[in-house]
Amino acid sequence: MEKKKQIIILGAGPAGLALALKLLRRNEPEWEIILIEQKSYVGGIAASFEKDGLFFDFGSHRLHPATSAEILNDLKELLGDDLLNRPRNGRIRLLGRFLKFPLNPVDLILHTPPAFVLSFLTDMLAKPFQKKHRPQRSFADALMDGLGKTICSAFYFPYARKLWGINPEDISVIQAQKRVSANSVFKIIKKVFSVLPGIKRENTGRFFYPQKGYGQISRVLANEVEKLGGKILLSSSAEEIIIKGNRPSVLKLRKENNDFVEFNHIDCDFLFSTIPISVLARLIKPLPSQDITDACKKLKYRSMILHYLLFETDQYTPYDAHYIPEDNIIISRISEPKNYSASKEPANLTGICLEIPCNLGDDIWNMTDASLTQKSLEDLKKIGLPANFPLKTSFTKRLPFVYPIYDQKFDEQFELIDDYINRFTGLVSLGRQGLFAHDNTHHTMEMAYRASDCLESNLNWKTTMWKNYRREFETHVVED
Ligand SMILES: Cc1cc2nc3c(=O)[nH]c(=O)nc-3n(C[C@H](O)[C@H](O)[C@H](O)COP(=O)(O)OP(=O)(O)OC[C@H]3O[C@@H](n4cnc5c(N)ncnc54)[C@H](O)[C@@H]3O)c2cc1C
Repeated sequence: MEKKKQIIILGAGPAGLALALKLLRRNEPEWEIILIEQKSYVGGIAASFEKDGLFFDFGSHRLHPATSAEILNDLKELLGDDLLNRPRNGRIRLLGRFLKFPLNPVDLILHTPPAFVLSFLTDMLAKPFQKKHRPQRSFADALMDGLGKTICSAFYFPYARKLWGINPEDISVIQAQKRVSANSVFKIIKKVFSVLPGIKRENTGRFFYPQKGYGQISRVLANEVEKLGGKILLSSSAEEIIIKGNRPSVLKLRKENNDFVEFNHIDCDFLFSTIPISVLARLIKPLPSQDITDACKKLKYRSMILHYLLFETDQYTPYDAHYIPEDNIIISRISEPKNYSASKEPANLTGICLEIPCNLGDDIWNMTDASLTQKSLEDLKKIGLPANFPLKTSFTKRLPFVYPIYDQKFDEQFELIDDYINRFTGLVSLGRQGLFAHDNTHHTMEMAYRASDCLESNLNWKTTMWKNYRREFETHVVED
């Protein structure tokens, strides 16, 4: 029997899994689909895990109603009644007070500090007479022009510093266009009023969430992949990609088994990668030229510590998430997974996940679990959240690659690496890390679905079609 063509996908996060599923559903008799995942679980940063009967995510995750009908229908079919449609119930800190998030007009009028409202209105009245930044050179220029000084200094600038670890003036203007869905006063007003009856659309202020944690999305995708004959190799890290005649031909894998490490080689006829593009380029043998390896080092990702606190109480607060922009608090967001799924189980126990952005190896990254717990409890107290429920346990997860950092030079570095990858035949990089995009799960799944459209049965790649899709991906705006 003739050997099947091996299509290898690096990474079993939502993008890798969705791609495997889409390819398998084409039922091509000559193809074998193999996913390679370095972790012992699927889902990447969108995975979940269980602890003491509670489901936890890697930070606050929701499936947004902006998900395309094609993807949402597939997920509804796979998750059935486990895919809940839930109302959002978050809060955001503004000048030392909590406001409802998503923002709503009544709460804004009742709870925004009057001095802030006055200052914001003054900014708006002065706006037509103010000189705009032309061209806009940074995130700071774009937001100052769109929103004015008051809201930038009270919210956007400290939050940006905390999330990405650099000053708003050093962040590319592209970040303001992509990451901030309300980057002008008009868009903010539209968002605020979109929650009012009569204007409100069916899914405004709502989100989808699987009963057993966000990672259930990836788990059902993985089950379906295996049901259709796809293979998922867990705890297997891609170590080297050997190129022959301009195509990836053999992959060297490192597999960790409790106390020993083994290396395997696997043939490859087509290679998709959803791992960080700067890691991918450095796996290629022969090694890329110095300018490419330099660009890989300069393309930076922000890391994150997720610190989990389990309290002996039924519910920590009634809110699903709290967004904390202040830069004297290390936490950027707090989420309580029990409230995402409206679960009452287990009784007298709940957990919160604190998102703490940092850089790999910096002082925060190196904090011990005990000092993280102490600092977290102090910070919770400072912002008026409960810190005195009996603490059952606390633990930490550390994610090295979380937010792509769009500094002023990121696009130059990215283009260099992207051009290098595109020189190979049979090698395609996609997904959040693969295209260095801030994208949501539904965006990365969209990339995966479209990538499947571009692969012909004989493994020819439709380059022009993919280029056009890539342009569409650039219009994705991140939802929080
Ligand atoms: C804190 C936070 C909150 C978020 N909230 C939301 C939200 O509310 N809604 C939403 O839609 N999205 C949200 N996102 C984004 C969402 O998590 C991502 O869009 C999604 O996980 C991206 O999927 P992916 O498959 O492209 O990448 P990833 O999930 O990063 O998957 C890449 C996979 O590659 C694997 N890998 C890396 N290197 C190797 C190697 N050498 N060999 C083999 N495997 C490797 C990794 O282990 C990982 O499993 C959030 C992200 C963060 C960080």
